[in-house]
Amino acid sequence: MFDVIVIGGSFAGLTAALQLGRASRSVLVVDAGSPRNRTSAGAHGVAGWDGVAPGEILARFRDDLGRYPTLQSRNGEVIRVEGSRDSFVVCLADGAAIAARRIILAHGVHDILPDVPGLGDGWGTRVLHCPYCHGYEVRGEPLAVLAVHPLSAHQALMLRADWSTSITFFTGGMDGFDFDALERAGVRVDARGLKAAQPDDHGISVVLSDGSSQQYAAMFVGPRTSLAGSPAEQLGCATAEGPMGNFVRVGPMAQTTIPGVFAAGDLARPAPNINFALADGAQAGIASHASLLSSDLVPQLEIAS
Ligand SMILES: Cc1cc2nc3c(=O)[nH]c(=O)nc-3n(C[C@H](O)[C@H](O)[C@H](O)COP(=O)(O)OP(=O)(O)OC[C@H]3O[C@@H](n4cnc5c(N)ncnc54)[C@H](O)[C@@H]3O)c2cc1C
Repeated sequence: MFDVIVIGGSFAGLTAALQLGRASRSVLVVDAGSPRNRTSAGAHGVAGWDGVAPGEILARFRDDLGRYPTLQSRNGEVIRVEGSRDSFVVCLADGAAIAARRIILAHGVHDILPDVPGLGDGWGTRVLHCPYCHGYEVRGEPLAVLAVHPLSAHQALMLRADWSTSITFFTGGMDGFDFDALERAGVRVDARGLKAAQPDDHGISVVLSDGSSQQYAAMFVGPRTSLAGSPAEQLGCATAEGPMGNFVRVGPMAQTTIPGVFAAGDLARPAPNINFALADGAQAGIASHASLLSSDLVPQLEIAS
């Protein structure tokens, strides 16, 4: 019986485990090994680590955790969590079933990219999700934005304001944007759809619905995200609808609506990044420890219907 099992061993999960290790609590981190930004050459906007490869940062995190004898980790995929507070059983795809008193969900989200051939090949290198994370590296260059949801127009306006004077917003016929505001800001709106994308070391070439092609330094796409099939969904944690997809609702102590289950990182935020994942992980680690001392210290999260 572990004190805590952390599902997901990336930025949020490892930070949560670190807090618990420093309280000498027994923790198992189970990780499937696919952090969300794994395709990026460097993670940006994280003080002290700016531009360092995500895998390198996480390797350093794991080294830190190795100093704490009560922390263990295991590669694997959690497929189900059974039981309730003080007696959870975490079931892995390899058949293992491991008991814990508390659960921290830190398994992130799945990105769902638009179904355009080639787009996924550039994900994290030439197909970018966030100006703060990757805009600086392509500032001043011709950039494209692909409309996916209402916030895509906001992304185009942001990029036009502070990153590049050459922004093309591909709507693919999608409606509902403030086209006047886009025009006033100097964003070029193009209603053609994308047939294909060809990213390479220098940029991305996009093939349009009329067969013509255009070249950009990068294309920004704020993807939809999903929790489908995840432990959070399987446990029945209450969620809310964000602009990109559902996220797990948490209280100020990272508690979910399921007693004894905490959540941290991308799966618990509408607009996440690494800094937030680190803060959330610390909160979940500390709050789960508090609830081991006395469950009264962590009030139940109630969601009014
Ligand atoms: C392409 C891209 C680039 C990005 N660049 C930046 C950047 O430069 N700067 C920045 O601040 N943010 C960046 N982000 C956002 C950043 O990647 C996330 O905010 C961060 O990774 C969230 O950390 P997390 O620990 O919540 O989840 P993740 O890092 O996604 O980690 C979740 C972990 O849980 C594991 N897991 C999933 N399901 C299970 C399961 N059932 N059982 C066991 N393990 C499981 C996964 O394999 C993974 O290892 C980027 C995102 C993308 C998509």
